[in-house]
Amino acid sequence: MQDIQELKHYLGQPRRIVIVTHARPDGDAVGSSLGLYHYLMLRGHEVRVVVPNAYAEFYRWLPGEETIVDHQKSGAAAALLLDDAELIFCLDFNVPARLETLAPKLLKASATRVLIDHHRDPEHFTRYVWHDTAASSTAELVYTFLGEMGELSWLNRDAATCLYVGLMTDTGSFRYSNTTPQTLRVAAALLEFGLDVEGIYERIFHTFSEDRLRFFGHCLVNKMQVFPEHRTGLITVTQEELDQFRVKTGDTEGLVNYPLSMSGIVFAVLLIDRGNLRKMSFRSKGDFNVDQFARDHFSGGGHRNASGGVSTESLEAVQQKFIALLPQTAGLSEIALPPTSS
Ligand code: 5GP
Ligand code: MN
Repeated sequence: MQDIQELKHYLGQPRRIVIVTHARPDGDAVGSSLGLYHYLMLRGHEVRVVVPNAYAEFYRWLPGEETIVDHQKSGAAAALLLDDAELIFCLDFNVPARLETLAPKLLKASATRVLIDHHRDPEHFTRYVWHDTAASSTAELVYTFLGEMGELSWLNRDAATCLYVGLMTDTGSFRYSNTTPQTLRVAAALLEFGLDVEGIYERIFHTFSEDRLRFFGHCLVNKMQVFPEHRTGLITVTQEELDQFRVKTGDTEGLVNYPLSMSGIVFAVLLIDRGNLRKMSFRSKGDFNVDQFARDHFSGGGHRNASGGVSTESLEAVQQKFIALLPQTAGLSEIALPPTSS
């Protein structure tokens, strides 16, 4: 960012700052936002994180999360914060539409906007941009952003915990191909704060309710369709099933990855009926680009190996459309199958 010194100078006196992140915030959205929040608070600013709607229960222990304002629950308070802000940081999203009903409020607020993000092709809706698609996570970018400003000495253990959550969740616990030497250098620097690595992992990944684990089992036994000739696994979830298993916000996180654990499967899809919308999550291994696939067919996007999309058509119609796309999608059927183990 060529203007980073300008921004640093602007932050030289206390400001009213809001941090916003995308709808149904994931670990990187919440973690990067709170990491930046702790730094700005320590620097004497007035700061609030505003989210469009709820995030998962298993993030409700992050230091500072109790201060987050949920626009869906507290619309007036959220609107007031945005209107009143001098500076708005936009974290972990590339287009205002990812804020859903909060988007118009962001765009009408008079505050100067700063983008920190790692999604492809960001729209130009902010004055300052700190963006890199090669970064594992927005949390990694918050760290390098503070480094560029010469402010790393202001990080504390709470900020480090939050940023570590962003790194860990967006890299699948440092397993996905977005894990770079830089990712691990940042993780190492964060661990210097004496983080409880095992405790963080446990609180996020090993806090399933019985309902949630049985729901996963139900989906794998009864709902997963496998298309070996197209290296694809698809899980479709109806509104009735969400009710039957009392599925809560965040409970479906991670489900989409299961088909990829089958040998020969490189494309995994989770299709969920979310009332007025059908929401899709796409994951891949290797070269198959699910960002492009989501852009081309389901008004979405994301990253090469993790993306999402939406449709207003019925669940059955989306499912049929998706299945019909498989034979004509380049890059799937051509992939060599792994050697059989007989
Ligand atoms: P998830 O499947 O976990 O919701 O999202 C995976 C990735 O795709 C994330 O990086 C997320 O930001 C992106 N993504 C998810 N849904 C959408 C969508 O509807 N539109 C766009 N542009 N990106 C999405
Ligand atoms: Mn992210």
